Amino acid sequence: MATPAQARIDLDAIRFNVAMLKERARGAELMGAVKADAYGHGLVPAAGAVLEGGASRLGTAFVREALALRAGGVTAPILSWLLTPDEPLDEALRADVELSASDPGLLGEIAAAARRTGITAKLHLEADTGMSRGGCPLAGWPELLDAALELRAEGVVEIVGLWSHFACADIPGHPSIGRQLEEFETALKLAEQVGAAGSHVIRHIANSAAIMTLPAARYDLVRPGIAMYGLSPIPELGDFGLRQAMTLVARAGLVKRVPEGSGVSYAHLYTTERETTLGLVPLGYADGILRHATGRAEVLAGGRRRTIAGRVCMDQFMIDMGDDPLSAGDEVVLFGPGDGGEPTAQEWADTLGTITHEIVTRIGSRVPRVYERRSSG
Ligand SMILES: *Cc1c(COP(=O)(O)O)cnc(C)c1O
Repeated sequence: MATPAQARIDLDAIRFNVAMLKERARGAELMGAVKADAYGHGLVPAAGAVLEGGASRLGTAFVREALALRAGGVTAPILSWLLTPDEPLDEALRADVELSASDPGLLGEIAAAARRTGITAKLHLEADTGMSRGGCPLAGWPELLDAALELRAEGVVEIVGLWSHFACADIPGHPSIGRQLEEFETALKLAEQVGAAGSHVIRHIANSAAIMTLPAARYDLVRPGIAMYGLSPIPELGDFGLRQAMTLVARAGLVKRVPEGSGVSYAHLYTTERETTLGLVPLGYADGILRHATGRAEVLAGGRRRTIAGRVCMDQFMIDMGDDPLSAGDEVVLFGPGDGGEPTAQEWADTLGTITHEIVTRIGSRVPRVYERRSSG
């Protein structure tokens, strides 16, 4: 390892996880969510593995992410679902990026771009079935459908998909789940009645959690994200046989003996109880190691778990090795699949009171992603 730290990405694990999700989707198409740099795993290489695993489409939040995939040579259909005013829509259409609309205003912007470029926009209409985030509330849905149909008649847009998103799919049995499915059915029926649905229009609502627990939510396409990276969408129900793709490692920098009573790092939140060996790990909060991990999160060093000793700093934190050996350059594993005794990303998330999505997406740009194929499936 020529860098102080790296995130090793097992592309075979991603491929394996996607194939498993595809199997669970029972014939539905799979759109891999690769937003946020493929959840921190590296956009283009991860997307390649996702497609190899059996995804036929990719999804990103922003248009710029979709354009980066195109620039990286990805030719599969891509949907960008988080449109804000003044996005580079002309570029999106020229790059054959499909767009989502949840409101007549943004639909108008898409139509304008289509007219400017002379390219028919491929449209996914998003219904708000109860999450109250993106999506068109059902009260405005008929109006949005009408606007889209008018534009379709002009040849300005083509309606490719009708979709929505769950608020609580990771809380099995939550009453909102059934209600959202009913609302989605209503939205689809309205679309059918006015001729905006049909066999060529794909219906989609399921994220990773829904794929695992809600067969009724598969429709024509599923949109997994977190599970593709081998992280459980519902940790309470176990790991579903997924394989964690990311292993975060660093090389110990300075290693030194210090006397008993040494205050370690900012604010001296940790004090050595006796003479001991301290190791410096060159990863800090600027790299996504939450400052909140101070005194809480564990790493694997010298074959044993060590708790972060004292404050996590911007670029580094310390570990207390006791009398165990550690040399500068030795590998310290922050998290990985757990095979070697290292903590998993799930353990980090549990320790820090967050979700694995946040653990892996926060790993910063100073940490190179290194791609491996551990081939296990
Ligand atoms: C992020 C996202 C997904 C994937 O969600 P996971 O919970 O990671 O599976 C699917 N659809 C949309 C619209 C998203 O924003």
